[in-house]
Amino acid sequence: MAQHDLILLGPPGAGKGTHAEYLKTDMNYMHLSTGDLLRVAVAAQNNLGKQAQTYMEAGELVPDDLVIDLVAERMEQLGSDEYYLLDGFPRTIVQAEALAEILEGIGREQPLVINLAVSDAEVVRRLSGRRMCPGCGTIYNVHRDGLDIGDNCPQCGGELYQRSDDQPEAIRNRLEVYKQDSALLIEYYRQRGQLVTVDAEQGQEEVSAELAQLARRGRLY
Ligand code: ADP
Ligand code: ZN
Repeated sequence: MAQHDLILLGPPGAGKGTHAEYLKTDMNYMHLSTGDLLRVAVAAQNNLGKQAQTYMEAGELVPDDLVIDLVAERMEQLGSDEYYLLDGFPRTIVQAEALAEILEGIGREQPLVINLAVSDAEVVRRLSGRRMCPGCGTIYNVHRDGLDIGDNCPQCGGELYQRSDDQPEAIRNRLEVYKQDSALLIEYYRQRGQLVTVDAEQGQEEVSAELAQLARRGRLY
């Protein structure tokens, strides 16, 4: 039974991290997050890391050619029995076109692009409800877990706090940035028949089940 290679798109708060983790552990996907790969490069202070660092610290996109090289290298190492899950890439049309070309070059089918759809109101609700533990790093949610600022973490006792960029105003800004950046990409993949939209306002289990089904199904396009 063939699996699809996947690209995950979705606004902050869509649950991309959770779903990527599920696809990785339960379906054996190779999770390729350009954000993670770049952070590793910066920490190692290798050539790529040194070049990427300034952009990342300024909250800007790293130049296309650097990120494309990074992804191309991973793609060329993929075995024919391995499936990847791209997270954080492509971010631009130039990157999307380069990816299509890389895949053609290695004779691999184009991936299915999963758009995790969540309304603005739900994004604001989810992110403004987020509470972080400084002790163990666990992320809670007021709405889901009933734990609020100042409560103690059930796992380590740390005092929960809220990230400053999880205030409604900052969330709306991040959402606007995401929408501007993703609109062209979504349109690009829609035109090529690669886009599938999943209602990410459903419960985690329902979303996971849909993702598993999409990942396993035969050709969709
Ligand atoms: P965030 O959700 O904060 O954007 P990521 O982990 O996806 O987090 O990315 C962190 C940073 O890494 C970005 O702000 C950007 O500088 C860089 N980056 C990640 N992916 C890409 C990409 N596809 N193109 C350009 N820069 C990227
Ligand atoms: Zn904790």
